[in-house]
Amino acid sequence: MKRMSPAAPHRPSTLPIINQRRLMRDLNAIGRIGIGNRGAVTRLVFSVKELRSRQVLIHLMRQAELKIHIDGIGNIFGRLDGSDPKAPAVLAGSHLDTVIHGGKYDGPVGVIGALEAIRTIRENRIATRSPLEVVCFVGEESSRFGFSTLGSSLVAGEVHPRDLANAVDAQGTKLADVLLSLGISPKRLRGLTRNPKSLKAYFELHIEQGPILEAIGKRIGLVTAIAAPSRFRIIFTGQADHSGTTPMEMRKDALVASAQLIEFIEKTCRKFSPMAKGRVVGTVGALKIEPGVINAVPGRAELSVDIRSTSAQSKARVSRMVTKQAQQIARKRAISVEVLTIREEDPVPLDKRLLRVTKEICDEKQVVYEIMPSGAGHDAMQMAKITPAAMIFIPSQRGISHNPLEWTDPDDIGLGTQLLMETMIRVANEQF
Ligand SMILES: [Zn+2]
Repeated sequence: MKRMSPAAPHRPSTLPIINQRRLMRDLNAIGRIGIGNRGAVTRLVFSVKELRSRQVLIHLMRQAELKIHIDGIGNIFGRLDGSDPKAPAVLAGSHLDTVIHGGKYDGPVGVIGALEAIRTIRENRIATRSPLEVVCFVGEESSRFGFSTLGSSLVAGEVHPRDLANAVDAQGTKLADVLLSLGISPKRLRGLTRNPKSLKAYFELHIEQGPILEAIGKRIGLVTAIAAPSRFRIIFTGQADHSGTTPMEMRKDALVASAQLIEFIEKTCRKFSPMAKGRVVGTVGALKIEPGVINAVPGRAELSVDIRSTSAQSKARVSRMVTKQAQQIARKRAISVEVLTIREEDPVPLDKRLLRVTKEICDEKQVVYEIMPSGAGHDAMQMAKITPAAMIFIPSQRGISHNPLEWTDPDDIGLGTQLLMETMIRVANEQF
């Protein structure tokens, strides 16, 4: 079956079609910056490669004759004026930094997609009441300093510059020193907060980074909410004993207790799966056992537990069940357990009206879509705190992301960009 391209019929409007060739050319140009073995892309925030990608973006914005503004941390805004100089802006973007050995689409699709949408609008002299802006946020990934959504957190006023002072990368370089070396003094980080009145909406086009769209054969995902994690460290303490001399019924095996709990977490989360509202996912991603030798009963086991959902209620319910079960297992086995909360974040709902507009446009264009949550964090979750925010997902082949094999069909990138453009125009012209 031939896939429907953005240029296919069923267009009730006379809106222009984005230039997919130019879009892919620019995406690939960004994707070559920081490329290494087996196509792995590494552009850690404030590295030479990442700074280079931002320069290329500035160059592209200049070519498109957008008004460029770079704020104190390096977030780049490119603006196309609207007909009403007082109207708040419709903003769209994402990030250009990557994880270590990542792919070329996580982030850049949202930045270059927004740029392509706005330059198509400009070239075709489509007037919008609100100005349109493309934004590239600095440091969305936490890979270098352990701090995610750096640029958008500052714009949303969600982080105080002093909270950044202690961040250090794997080489021991302080974030504060990196900023100084770039001529960014902590003083410049104050007042980056954008006045919510200057914004009408924020859109982010992003690859799904999961397998759902591909599995159900849909090309567009409209995001309802961004899931947030609760993270725990659970430590079972039993007794390390000789594996040959200690009878089974006299053991205090901390690992067997952990195994029971791990299975419980899987079973419990599966009850909320797979697509239901309030879906919960739970992962034990790290397990440390002591003494950790073949001839000793494990006396101590430490598990990391990550539980995520877009429903704060479901997440809290599963967290309580896991804690209770850990205590029950410990009691039955006469060992002790400690449950430490590392982090507790609230899920972020996205804007219902923007979702409705995007849905309407999909219906008009006869594009089939899936209404879905986002399991991963994005800049949109910060922006949602100061302006109505929406996300459009496009499929990730085999669900792979943060990996050189990350891939999305160029036709899907084109379709997502076309949808982004049409939604931006409608939102920029309509009253909310
Ligand atoms: Zn991303």
